Amino acid sequence: MHRVELSIRHALKCRGCGVCVEKCPNNVIAIEYGVAVIGNGCVHCGQCIEVCPVVKFG
Ligand code: SF4
Ligand code: SF4
Repeated sequence: MHRVELSIRHALKCRGCGVCVEKCPNNVIAIEYGVAVIGNGCVHCGQCIEVCPVVKFG
């Protein structure tokens, strides 16, 4: 549940900074129309959330 909440905040507040794109070990994050989109292959490791400045401070 906690993870879902973080994912939603991710989607709503994302500024497309691209930090998470570099961090994902599976390379499943892309920036589309200015926001991060997580594609197939996400293993829910949480690394993208750890580095996201929006989720951390938002
Ligand atoms: S949770 Fe992990 S695998 Fe999924 S998008 Fe984020 S960094 Fe990539
Ligand atoms: S690190 Fe956060 S704000 Fe930056 S692109 Fe990824 S989800 Fe968006």
